[in-house]
Formats: sequence, structure tokens, C-alpha cells
Amino acid sequence: MSAYRVAQEPYYRSVGDEVAMYEAAYEIRMPMMLKGPTGCGKTRFVEYMAWKLGRPLVTVSCNEDMTASDLLGRYLLDANGTRWQDGPLTLAARYGAICYLDEVVEARQDTTVAIHPLTDARRILPLDKKGEVVKAHPDFQLVVSYNPGYQSVMKDLKQSTKQRFAALDFDYPEHDIEVEIVVHESGVDADTASKLVHIAERARNLKGHGLDEGLSTRMLTYAGSLIAKGIDPLKACRVALVRPITDDLDMRDALDAAVTTYF
Ligand code: ADP
Repeated sequence: MSAYRVAQEPYYRSVGDEVAMYEAAYEIRMPMMLKGPTGCGKTRFVEYMAWKLGRPLVTVSCNEDMTASDLLGRYLLDANGTRWQDGPLTLAARYGAICYLDEVVEARQDTTVAIHPLTDARRILPLDKKGEVVKAHPDFQLVVSYNPGYQSVMKDLKQSTKQRFAALDFDYPEHDIEVEIVVHESGVDADTASKLVHIAERARNLKGHGLDEGLSTRMLTYAGSLIAKGIDPLKACRVALVRPITDDLDMRDALDAAVTTYF
């Protein structure tokens, strides 16, 4: 488990009472759902909380090809025959880590239901293939992230899954806080960071009017990092902010124009 320790304090700029809420939730080992758009700080927050609570952190990025075995574990063949290998969820449950399932909605429903017995009063994990029922370590906690923006009829969590979690809302931070984050993460000066945040705010207003997702804090830190490396701000914004989020030429022009009003 030592490999899963968060050794150094991750930089996390809190935006409300989420740290205190999470601490209270962890005290009763309540399963948590972090809701919000991509790149707004959910993963960083979990890393920070794992560090603060002194728990190892096991992170799994969920995808549609993931099977229950990828979470629970499987028998492997080696020179001596077969050997059981715990999956990340089993490892976390056995040894008392925080298990973070990133973008849980991406996983198939038969995979998602594998977490159910861990998220109610039983706190157990049946490993059917191995014929073992793992009783979760007292320190174990399950956290999932979920982007409601991607929600569709095909891809939504079942109510029976949703209702097993308490949920914290995440969103892009307010202007001054986001500037602070961009300055810290990219090394760019506050004036430039503020311009980047202004551009993002404009782009976020276009969400639902041709843009599927707003410009994330993560993208701003990328643009800032390029600028801090000496790249011309106009070019940095095109490469790190505009091109990645749209293929539509009109939208591209509109966003490029927003960039030129600031740089
Ligand atoms: P998510 O998990 O929501 O997709 P991340 O946690 O990976 O997003 O955030 C993306 C990046 O944005 C982080 O690597 C970090 O640089 C920055 N970031 C966003 N919000 C914060 C915050 N509140 N404190 C510190 N860094 C943040």
C-alpha cells in the first residue's frame, strides 16, 4: 500500500466548505460523489483529502471496456499455475485506502453494480470467482466522480447507484480564485492569468450554444504554462484553449476573436 500514499501535500485551493464536508463524510465512511465538469479540480481535491486524512489513494479511470474483473481482480497464469491478483477496488477495500473511481458513468452497468455491496451497511466485496467475501477495512472509503454534462439516456447512473452516495458539487472557481490557481500551477503572472480566466468565462457562456463543454481550469493552466515558457500568448491560447475544444470553424473563429480582445 505504501506505493499508494500521497507523500507530499498536493496544492488544492478550496472554494467553499468542501474540505470540512468531506472530512465529516469520511468520519462515517460515507461514499462520496464529486459532480462537475471535467478539469475543475475534482481529482486534485481527492488527492488533497487523501493526503490530509493520511489514507492511501487508489485511483481508477473508468471506461466502457472495463469489466468487473478489472475492478475486483482475476486469476493469472504463471509458472506455478494460477494465482489470484486483487483488482484496485479489492486492494483498497482490504487495506483501507480511499478508492477513487474517476468518471464512473463511463463504466458499464454490470461493472457499476459490483460496488453496491461496498456502499451500504454491509461494506463487503464478494469475489465470486475466488469464492471469498472481503470485509472492507474500517478505513476504506469509496469516492466517484461524475460529470452531469455528459449525461444521456444511454449514459447515466442508475438511481440505485446514485442513491448510495452523498454528492458534492464542483464547478469552475470564481474569477479571483481561478486566477490564483492558474498562477500557482503555471507560473504565469496574475495579469496574464486574469486574461486567461476572462477568455474562459466568455467560452463558458457558449456552452450549449455550439460548445459541449466549457473551457476548463486545466486548459488554462496548460495555456499559462506555455506562456510562462515564452510562447506568444496568442499562439498559446490557440493551441491550448481553442483548438482542443472545437472542430467547428465558426466556433473556432469566435473563440480566436475572444482571445485577440485580451492578447
Ligand atoms: P477533474 O478531476 O475535475 O477533471 P482535476 O482535478 O484534474 O480535474 O483538475 C485539473 C487541473 O486544474 C489540476 O491539475 C490543477 O492544476 C487545476 N485545478 C483545478 N481546480 C483546482 C483547485 N481548486 N486547486 C488547485 N488546482 C486546481
